[in-house]
Amino acid sequence: MSLDPENWEDIRSLGKTMVGDMLTWLETVRERPAWTPVPPAVTVRLDEPVPHAGSALAEVYESFKRDILPYPTGNIHPRFWGWVQGTGTTTGLLADMLASTMNPHLAGYDQSAYLIERTVIGWLAELMGFPAESSGILVSGGTEANINGISAARVAKAGFDVRTEGLRGGPPLTLYGGAETHSWIYKGCELMGLGRKAFRAIPVDADYRIDVAACRARILKDLESGCRPIAIVGTAGTVNTGATDDLRALRALADEFDLWLHVDGAFGALVAWTSRRDIVAGLASADSLAFDLHKWGYMPYEAGVALTRDPDAQTAAYKPAGAGVGAYLASPNGGIAANTTYFADRGLQLSRGFRALKVWMSMKEQGVDRIAGCIEANIQQAGRLAGIVEAHEDLELLAPAPLNVVCLRYAPKGVAEARLNALNEAILVAIQTRGVAVPSQTVLQGRFAIRVCITNHRTRDEDIDIFVDAVRTIGAELAAAGDA
Ligand SMILES: *Cc1c(COP(=O)(O)O)cnc(C)c1O
Repeated sequence: MSLDPENWEDIRSLGKTMVGDMLTWLETVRERPAWTPVPPAVTVRLDEPVPHAGSALAEVYESFKRDILPYPTGNIHPRFWGWVQGTGTTTGLLADMLASTMNPHLAGYDQSAYLIERTVIGWLAELMGFPAESSGILVSGGTEANINGISAARVAKAGFDVRTEGLRGGPPLTLYGGAETHSWIYKGCELMGLGRKAFRAIPVDADYRIDVAACRARILKDLESGCRPIAIVGTAGTVNTGATDDLRALRALADEFDLWLHVDGAFGALVAWTSRRDIVAGLASADSLAFDLHKWGYMPYEAGVALTRDPDAQTAAYKPAGAGVGAYLASPNGGIAANTTYFADRGLQLSRGFRALKVWMSMKEQGVDRIAGCIEANIQQAGRLAGIVEAHEDLELLAPAPLNVVCLRYAPKGVAEARLNALNEAILVAIQTRGVAVPSQTVLQGRFAIRVCITNHRTRDEDIDIFVDAVRTIGAELAAAGDA
C-alpha cells in the first residue's frame, strides 16, 4: 500500500494540465470580477461527508475547478485593495510546487533547503539594514513574527528568568505602542500571560503616529508604580492609514530607559527596499523587526519574517532548555543533524516547511529592484488616488495618505453628515458585490471610511480610475434613492 499513483503517466499528464490551467487563470485574472460570491448551490455541494473511499484525481480536480477556484475573495485581482492582502505571483505558484516535491523538514539539518533559508534570511537582514550576524526565521506571517519579537524582548528585558519562573518571578512587565498598533499585540500579550493590560496603548497625533512624549510620561508613571517596562513597539505602516511612527524618536526613548525596540513593519518595512526608504527611517535601529513577504513582497501565503539584531536573542527565547530538552532532538557529532543552526530554536514551530524556496526563487527571478519598483508604483498610485479624491468636491480624504493606504468617503453637498456613514457603507458593499473592486472599511474619528490599501503588483492607474468612477456613480445613485 502506498499513496503514490498507480499510473505515473496519467498523473504526469494531469499535472501538466493543472500547471497550464493555473497559469491561464492568472493570465486572465483581469477579465473576471474582483469578487464572485460563492453561490448557495456550491456552498451546499462543498459541505460533503468524509470521503472514506477515494476517487480519481482528475475528478477531484474537476470539483476544484468547478466549486473552489472561481470563488476567492479576489485578492489576486488587480482591483483588490481590502485589508492588507497579497497577490502572489506565477513564480510563487511554481516554487510552491517545487517545495512540496522536496517536502523538506526545516527544523534545521545538513541539507540544501536549510542553506536556502539561511541565505534568504541574510539577504533580508541586509535589505532591512540589519547587521549580517542578525538572527532570523521565516514564519507563518506578521502575527507570529511580531510575537517572536516581543517574546525575545520579554526574555531579554524582564530582569529575571521568565522562562523558568514565569511571570510570578518578578514585577509586572509592560509594553508600549501607539493606539494604532495592530491587534496582534493583544494576542501576543494574552498568549504570553502578560495580559492585555500589559500593553499601554499610547494616544496618536493627527497623523496617526504615536505621541512620543505621552509614551515617555506613561513609562515614568509605570516605573513609579513598580512595573517593569520591557519594550516599545513601533509601527512602520499602520493598517488604518499607513502611518509610520517616528522610529528614531522611539529608539532614543527605548535607549533612555534600556528598553527593547520592536518594529512591526508587516507591510511598511518593505519600503526600506525602495528609494522611498526615508519614510521608514530608523527601522534598521530596531532590536527586532517583523514583516511579511506575503503582503507587499507579493509572494504567496504564508511568509512572514522575524529578525533580531542580537544573534542570540531568538534562541534565548525559544531554544529548549533544562528539562525541556528532548533526548530525541539532541545533535550527534556527525550525520544529518550535526552543526546546523536549528531554525526550530528561533521560533515556535518544530516541523517547518520550505517557505524559503518561494522567497529565494522570487527574489532571484524578479530581482529586488523589480519588487521595489512595484512597491514604489503602489505608493504612487495611492498618492494619485489621494490627489483625485481631493480634487473632487463630492469626495473627501479622511486621513493623511503617507504610504499606500487611502481612506476616503463620498460626501456630496446636500447629504447630511448623519447619513454619510450608512451611505458609504452601502457604497462599499455595492462596489464589492458588483465585483468592481474590493476596498475594505475602517472608522476614523467616527467617520466611516472606504479604505484602499494597495499591495498589488497588478494594479494600474486605470484600475484606480474605474474605482473612483464607481464610488461617485454608485454614491450618486444611492444618495438619490435615499436608501442609505
Ligand atoms: C497584516 C498585519 C499584521 C499581521 O500579520 P499577518 O501576516 O496577517 O499575521 C500585523 N501588523 C500589521 C501592521 C499588519 O498589516
